[in-house]
Amino acid sequence: MIHIKSAEEIELIRESSLIVSKCHAEIAKIIRPGLATIELDKLAETFIRDNGGEPAFKGYRGFPATLCISVNEQVVHGFPSDREIKDGDVLSIDCGVKKNGFFGDSAFTFAIGEASQEVLDLLKSTFDSLFKGIDEAVAGKRIGDIAFAVQMHTEIERGYGVVRELVGHGVGRNLHEDPEVPNYGKRGKGIMLKEGMVLAIEPMINMGTHRVKQLRDGWTIVTVDNKPSAHFEHTVAVGKIQADILSNHNLIFESIKNNINIKNFQ
Ligand code: MG
Ligand code: MG
Repeated sequence: MIHIKSAEEIELIRESSLIVSKCHAEIAKIIRPGLATIELDKLAETFIRDNGGEPAFKGYRGFPATLCISVNEQVVHGFPSDREIKDGDVLSIDCGVKKNGFFGDSAFTFAIGEASQEVLDLLKSTFDSLFKGIDEAVAGKRIGDIAFAVQMHTEIERGYGVVRELVGHGVGRNLHEDPEVPNYGKRGKGIMLKEGMVLAIEPMINMGTHRVKQLRDGWTIVTVDNKPSAHFEHTVAVGKIQADILSNHNLIFESIKNNINIKNFQ
């Protein structure tokens, strides 16, 4: 069942989504080689609670942390740990916040230090494909229009692998609601979009094959060819003329400008 949100509810989802984005911006200030990823998680939990929110992922189906931190061949759902960030790493950070009963969900991928041009190209294409998808999040279009736009930009035009097993989703009083929002599909297919639907659109794009597997920890998803993967996500409200993007990556880019350890892919 798809819940249509009122204007007031959308503002509450925006508030939660902006805490997620500000949290990402705080993280982007301190990322550097040598830092353990668990340190980013501690910062995130403190920041979210200081802003009146709750970490949405912590305890969700037993997930142990505030952030999903997925490094290099890890696609999504990686655990923060004592693992130290290395020069050249690709770090996907997914974060969710619950406040006032509503969730926000957003992800960003960072290229650390001297990341290769190949990696920067993957990040840029994945990032751009998110906005190709968001361009389709308009009343009267269909889920398949979003899916096709992402797949066209990444897989069909550039030969990257679009992860099939994991998809975007509705967001609201629950972290994951209907409908599913795949990153591959056919134009004009799937449910029709209506004003007030709130969606997390989140392309997960692999440099090599689209095929993935789950590690024995029951969570971490990795590429089967060990090539890197990128993940960008916005929470958006479907609009009459255009989508309203409720999370905000610009805050993250501001921090990246001032951190020489992160390479801007834009
Ligand atoms: Mg997410
Ligand atoms: Mg999500």
